[in-house]
Amino acid sequence: MSTIVIKGAHVIDPSQGIDGIADIVIERGVVKSVGEPTGAHAGAEVIDAKGLIAAPAFVEVHAHTREPGGEQSETIATGARAGVVGGYGRVCCMPNTRPVCDSAMIVRYMCDRSADAGLARVHPIAAVTKGLSGAELCEYSALRDAGAVAFSDDGVPVADAGVMRRAMQAIGALGMVIMDHCEDMSLTADGVMHEGAVSMRLGLPGIPRSSEASVVARDCMLSAETGCRLHICHVSTVTSVEAIREWKKRGAPVTAEVSPHHLTLTDERVWNERTGEVDTHAKMKPPLCAEEDRLALIEALEDGTIDCIATDHAPHAPALKDNVFDAAPFGILGLESAFSVLHREFVASGKWSMANLIERMTIASARILGEIGGGWGSLAAGCAGDVVLIDPERAWTLTVAGLGSKSENSPWVGERFGARVVGTIVGGRVVHRVH
Ligand SMILES: [Zn+2]
Repeated sequence: MSTIVIKGAHVIDPSQGIDGIADIVIERGVVKSVGEPTGAHAGAEVIDAKGLIAAPAFVEVHAHTREPGGEQSETIATGARAGVVGGYGRVCCMPNTRPVCDSAMIVRYMCDRSADAGLARVHPIAAVTKGLSGAELCEYSALRDAGAVAFSDDGVPVADAGVMRRAMQAIGALGMVIMDHCEDMSLTADGVMHEGAVSMRLGLPGIPRSSEASVVARDCMLSAETGCRLHICHVSTVTSVEAIREWKKRGAPVTAEVSPHHLTLTDERVWNERTGEVDTHAKMKPPLCAEEDRLALIEALEDGTIDCIATDHAPHAPALKDNVFDAAPFGILGLESAFSVLHREFVASGKWSMANLIERMTIASARILGEIGGGWGSLAAGCAGDVVLIDPERAWTLTVAGLGSKSENSPWVGERFGARVVGTIVGGRVVHRVH
């Protein structure tokens, strides 16, 4: 089918300020028009979307698809499936695979697997240092030419400030962005959750706020000094927010993301009331912090200190997560639930408009990647025909069977939501539909 018409939806495209009833016409995979209801299109596939919201498919700048090497937990195909279940048209995946995505060959392998899957478009983020060793720099222009959209050692920090500075000089010269996992391992030590009243009560070793915030401050300073664009991943603490706000004010080319879990949960969730046990589905890095951190993150997103929402989708097979809290790996799923979790917390409560939420999951995310993200997260004519269909009134329960991922480590399984992604279209093809 070369033409698809989405009829009668309430179209919300913050990239163009569109917020009203319109028809979307996609031809040969590309948006042709968004506008007045159109007449018949000979041979077109027509989707009746009355009562639904249609928006640019969401853009994920931070996910883990685990392949190669971690196929027990996720593959590029199942990660792409998790993406479309959650309404994402693009999923940028971190390089902490085995082997690490630090060569043009692995970047091309990932792009090929993404094309084979034909679901969400999976875009590799390549490593800053070879093997995530924190020592030797990768060959950035070769990685970019192979299809890498950004650089990161996510999962681990670049510990050595001199290495980070040299990486920024090289990556800045290409006009590309470093996505920074900020953590000082000497401060994290054996910590497994946020250091505070709850970690004391549970008798678990804590991670102090300074572990993240000290590296945020260091790298913002290096970004200002080198001019390299720096994106702070998964900001979790009030202290980091203060550092980002200060360095943005000084003109450092810094952006930041926050996850749905850090916006909606606190360290209290580590103790699962329902099961009466600590819950490894609330264990991730950086950890869930205190209520004052959560409130600071919300304020920072609302005032522009934090730019966008990213899930840090981090699948781990049940065999790995089903372990004592100290030993279980860090990370939870995010793609499938992000929209509904955020809608329940912020839109249903009247705090944000639907357009506010969509903007933070589409065009604001695309802008993180600079030129490479140009045209992403938008339904402007000529952009990719990637659309999410949302039923704003659809009550549903998240189940393990309803996840797209190969893993099931979500803290939201079993919860009820009031709005749902009911369709995802990628390149003019319907790749997910809930009736
Ligand atoms: Zn990380």
